[in-house]
Amino acid sequence: MARRHSGHMNGERYLANTSPSKREVHDLDNEKTTCQIDEIIKAGHDKPYNSLEIAKRDGFDNCAYCIGGSTR
Ligand SMILES: [Zn+2]
Repeated sequence: MARRHSGHMNGERYLANTSPSKREVHDLDNEKTTCQIDEIIKAGHDKPYNSLEIAKRDGFDNCAYCIGGSTR
């Protein structure tokens, strides 16, 4: 489990899943297998963020596994 340099990712800490049915942001420094990050990248739904705040401003929800619902 680590930051990615594949798909749209270039080492950023946060990865948002742009799939319309998901719309969640993940913390790659606290990634869980349940996040299925590689599946997101494979599907081309990965969008990189350096800031959780900006991802949330763009309308992404916290992943319940790696971030949880209590950061805000
Ligand atoms: Zn996650």
